[in-house]
Amino acid sequence: MTRISIAIDGPASSGKSTVAKIIANELNYIYTDTGAMYRAVTYLAIEHQISFADEAGLVDLINQYPISFMQQADGQHVFVAKKDVTSEIRQPNVTKAVSEVAAHSRVREALVAIQRKIGENGGVVMDGRDIGTSVLPKAEVKIFLVASVTERAERRYKENLEKNIPTDLVTLTKEIQERDRYDSTRKISPLRQASDAIRIDTTGRSIPEVVEAIKEVIREKGYSL
Ligand code: C5P
Repeated sequence: MTRISIAIDGPASSGKSTVAKIIANELNYIYTDTGAMYRAVTYLAIEHQISFADEAGLVDLINQYPISFMQQADGQHVFVAKKDVTSEIRQPNVTKAVSEVAAHSRVREALVAIQRKIGENGGVVMDGRDIGTSVLPKAEVKIFLVASVTERAERRYKENLEKNIPTDLVTLTKEIQERDRYDSTRKISPLRQASDAIRIDTTGRSIPEVVEAIKEVIREKGYSL
């Protein structure tokens, strides 16, 4: 059976990682959360007191502390060198700064090279902002997930409560809008729907419904599940 590449892009909290994980699991594909990689670099910058504006310093961190993923019983964990940073990278200080870090061209080059390597043999579900447009432009299936700002903020609010991360809805809404603006207007690989991507609005739709909609796209393109 052909092992294809599936690119899932979209703005913050549009449901990308939740559905990407489920589909990767069902197909026995690798799941790659590229946002986690930009978050890991941001975490390293905070830890090592490197300015978010210091592009060369950020690239040095990527070279010194290799980012990796490891599947564990409770899901995928993110490591920088040997340190597990899975929960650290979801903290508000990282979320606030990550878009600034992700806007540097050399940071993107370094991480995109790793992402392309992971995706080179197919059998991958990769989520992010630029997977269909830049990282895996030849991906057989490209999905662009969107949802209203209100619903995305509510989802993030619930997630934060579950993870015991301090949170409030007004701040979250503002942060999501700010991140959307930053990610969509940056010069390099802005958040944008690829011309051959299928847009799915997840507002008011359950996770199983969105998963089914994506599987339908995969089948329609002629790939078996
Ligand atoms: O997906 P997540 O919200 O964890 O991504 C965090 C941030 O990383 C995004 O707001 C964006 O600035 C950056 N990002 C990116 N390109 C990707 C994935 C994430 O620029 N492919």
